[in-house]
Amino acid sequence: MELKSKVPAGPIERKWSQHRFDMKLVNPANKRKYSVIMVGSGLAGAAGAASLAELGYAVSCFCYQDSPRRAHSIAAQGGINAAKNYQNDGDSVFRLFYDTIKGGDFRAREANVHRLAELSVNIIDQCAAQGVPFAREYGGLLANRSFGGAQVSRTFYARGQTGQQLLLGAYQALERQIGLGKVRMYPRHEMLELIVVGGRARGIVTRDMVSGAVESHLADAVCLATGGYGNVFFLATYAKGCNATAIWRAYKKGAGFANPCFTQIHPTCIPVTGEHQSKLTLMSESLRNDGRIWVPLRQGDTRAPGDIPEAERDYYLERMYPSYGNLAPRDIASRAAKRVCDEGRGVGPGGKGVYLDFADAIGRLGKDAIMEKYGNLFEMYERITDEDPYTVPMRIYPASHYTMGGLWVDYNLMSTIPGLHVLGEANFSDHGANRLGASALMQGLADGYFVIPYTIGDYLASNKQEKIAADHPEVRAAEAAVAERTRKLLAVGGQRTPTSFHRELGRLMWEGCGMGRNRAGLQAALGKIPALREEFWQNLRLPGGAAELNQSLEHAGRVADFLELGELMCRDALEREESCGGHFREEHQTPDGEALRDDERFCHVAVWEHAGEGRAPVRHQEPLTFEHVPLAQRSYK
Ligand SMILES: Cc1cc2nc3c(=O)[nH]c(=O)nc-3n(C[C@H](O)[C@H](O)[C@H](O)COP(=O)(O)OP(=O)(O)OC[C@H]3O[C@@H](n4cnc5c(N)ncnc54)[C@H](O)[C@@H]3O)c2cc1C
Repeated sequence: MELKSKVPAGPIERKWSQHRFDMKLVNPANKRKYSVIMVGSGLAGAAGAASLAELGYAVSCFCYQDSPRRAHSIAAQGGINAAKNYQNDGDSVFRLFYDTIKGGDFRAREANVHRLAELSVNIIDQCAAQGVPFAREYGGLLANRSFGGAQVSRTFYARGQTGQQLLLGAYQALERQIGLGKVRMYPRHEMLELIVVGGRARGIVTRDMVSGAVESHLADAVCLATGGYGNVFFLATYAKGCNATAIWRAYKKGAGFANPCFTQIHPTCIPVTGEHQSKLTLMSESLRNDGRIWVPLRQGDTRAPGDIPEAERDYYLERMYPSYGNLAPRDIASRAAKRVCDEGRGVGPGGKGVYLDFADAIGRLGKDAIMEKYGNLFEMYERITDEDPYTVPMRIYPASHYTMGGLWVDYNLMSTIPGLHVLGEANFSDHGANRLGASALMQGLADGYFVIPYTIGDYLASNKQEKIAADHPEVRAAEAAVAERTRKLLAVGGQRTPTSFHRELGRLMWEGCGMGRNRAGLQAALGKIPALREEFWQNLRLPGGAAELNQSLEHAGRVADFLELGELMCRDALEREESCGGHFREEHQTPDGEALRDDERFCHVAVWEHAGEGRAPVRHQEPLTFEHVPLAQRSYK
């Protein structure tokens, strides 16, 4: 597998502008002759589809929801970063770049991250022009708040529903193109196979989730903007439908999978309350602007929080990381929460929780000010826990939230399969081993609005495409593979539901490849996952048939893929004998319990190649070099 990053030469701050000039263009009159498939209508996909159609390409856009507007991006709460420096507090493109490289623990490509920081400012202009109702200061300027891993305020927000508002902006742009006939939208269509002809991505096979019809769609280029795979842990903050199927099928057709073990565990989620739960809810990181995190000083202290005096509380993030305090990056804050709970100082049922307390902020700013900033989050918390966070501290605990790993892409967002581009959370590109808060929305929109519109033109202008017949053998083979897989799933006729397998896999992944990983735990998981997969194919029970709406069938297909991906994640975590960002190998830590990287051996992207069914995947490396942010042990103290 060849891993050519295609990072342009020249000074870092000029790479992207020079590259834009150097890339080939498609003449405006010719654009309509090219067709592009966009799988996904979240922030990355909707922005990409709308922008490509605006340029003149013929776009087909797919999503599994009933409307593109329901993509998981809608759940994003806290905000989106941009280096506008409206606060005059020392921000700059370089500082955002620097923070992101450091936050990712030096496992991302410098050139990509610099481009992201440059584009961040355009995104805010684009979204404000669309009418996204960002919060504003009294004087009318857009307001900012702080997020983890930064000492400046650069996060733009719309109360606690930033993702929803940004998605409405992108959705309107998409709808305009649908109305103009430039985008053909396929809701309730799930991509189940990639079509590769002559080594190039030329289409997809979908299942109509209402009628069950299996159809092929062909194009000159394919883009996947299908989101993250953190639901492999079963309990996660993702929407229930989020899955890995699209990228997994692409992996099996030859797309390299980069850093699959790099997952983000978010520190502020509502804790698990029991076996009955099927998902977890995030409490946005923005709450750490005003909320203070603490646990009792004493182990096993079961007093109500209000009865524990100040002197008997441990504001452990403020104590351990005085410079960043409650705004320490997510990986660090998550591990610290686990540590104090493992010491027996956790709160709530099972001792798996820490307090996020707003009493100080309410005393200082007043309840109305807090309500104004976070009202919908407080309401959500109260609805779920039946506790009023204005009077009793919230209880939070880390949970699976984001995947930094994903399909490997070069600087042009193209995977190792020519013609297959990958956008947003589905690729591995910009966050290294740990994503800083408010930077996923930034990356998805940068990819969709500002990167792919240029790079896909270069691909199309540089590669002459033959027309593919609908009955081409590769098309027929991909359709047959989908039909056979569906038949196999329905034919098992066993006893267990897809959910029961998913739940068991999630538990194995959380225990073996969760917040802390070690050799023995990973080897144990690698022993158990294949056995669980085996049982899945022997003992799965699915009601209904293929030619109808069948949510159990949909879920089963996704769980089958998670059962394979989970194994690759553990394998990747086992091979990476270092700790970095969210990947914490317990054997590799500093004396005070921080992640200990091994730059000599692991300063690279690990890229996995599928070697065929029943054969071990092959690990490749893309070396990483750091010229602008010197490699150093991260410190937030
Ligand atoms: C609760 C929560 C809060 C968050 N808050 C923030 C925040 O404040 N700031 C921030 O920067 N980030 C935040 N994030 C992260 C951020 O929301 C996501 O990383 C980002 O929205 C992902 O966007 P995306 O376009 O890549 O994918 P998604 O929004 O997940 O969209 C995926 C799309 O792909 C489609 N799709 C997937 N598979 C298939 C298939 N096989 N066939 C057809 N269609 C398919 C789906 O239908 C959907 O349209 C948050 C995440 C969560 C879970």
